[in-house]
Amino acid sequence: MLWGVLSDIHSNHEALQATVERLKGQGAEGWICCGDIVGYGADPNPVVETLRGLPGMRAVRGNHDLAVLGRMDIAWFNEAARAAVEYTQSTITAENLAWLKDLPPRVDADTFSVVHGSPRNPAEEYLVTVQQFHDNCTYFKTSPCFVGHSHMPLAFLMTEPVSYVDHGPMAPGQVLNLPRHTKIVINPGSVGQPRDHEPRASCGLLDDEKRTFTLHRVKYDVEAVQKKIIAAGLPEFLALRLSYGQ
Ligand code: ZN
Repeated sequence: MLWGVLSDIHSNHEALQATVERLKGQGAEGWICCGDIVGYGADPNPVVETLRGLPGMRAVRGNHDLAVLGRMDIAWFNEAARAAVEYTQSTITAENLAWLKDLPPRVDADTFSVVHGSPRNPAEEYLVTVQQFHDNCTYFKTSPCFVGHSHMPLAFLMTEPVSYVDHGPMAPGQVLNLPRHTKIVINPGSVGQPRDHEPRASCGLLDDEKRTFTLHRVKYDVEAVQKKIIAAGLPEFLALRLSYGQ
């Protein structure tokens, strides 16, 4: 089966629509979402409603989703992130909030796992180093384990029997082979707020029969999203950063 893999959408509806269209065109039948569905952007309701309409959705909650639900202390959030949490709380419908509230911290499916930050600390840890990958390997059973949170498209593969870790950023169009009985962590990058100096939305396609993962970058109407962020009274910085992928 083919799965569209999405993460860190952050209330960016134009980016979400563009990635869903691309992945549907590639044959995606099921969907994986690594959390941070809301926060930062101006469109929490359209984003949640689009996700709710996708078939076979296996989604987890992220730290921004928890913050909107009042289940995470936002004292450590920066000013712009805090403003976006408050904006989301004031605009999200009760029905969409209830959907977010029901999301689990992790998904353990037959052919993949999903968390937001890391398997050992789903709400907070940024899994970006080989040491962290090693430390997290005992915290998930089924590979690939999809993570989000850092907004960077990255992959880690444990090559046995010498336990060498093949790792690095993923390039647009790159196809990763996913050998069985191998510990693998993949971050598909961020749909709604990429931070690898590449403004195109990042997402991926998992083929759990052929055992491959393909990274996609998708152009979307950044200007339209920026106008909505400004019109919503959110900090200008949240609009500007989208032009630079930062
Ligand atoms: Zn995020």
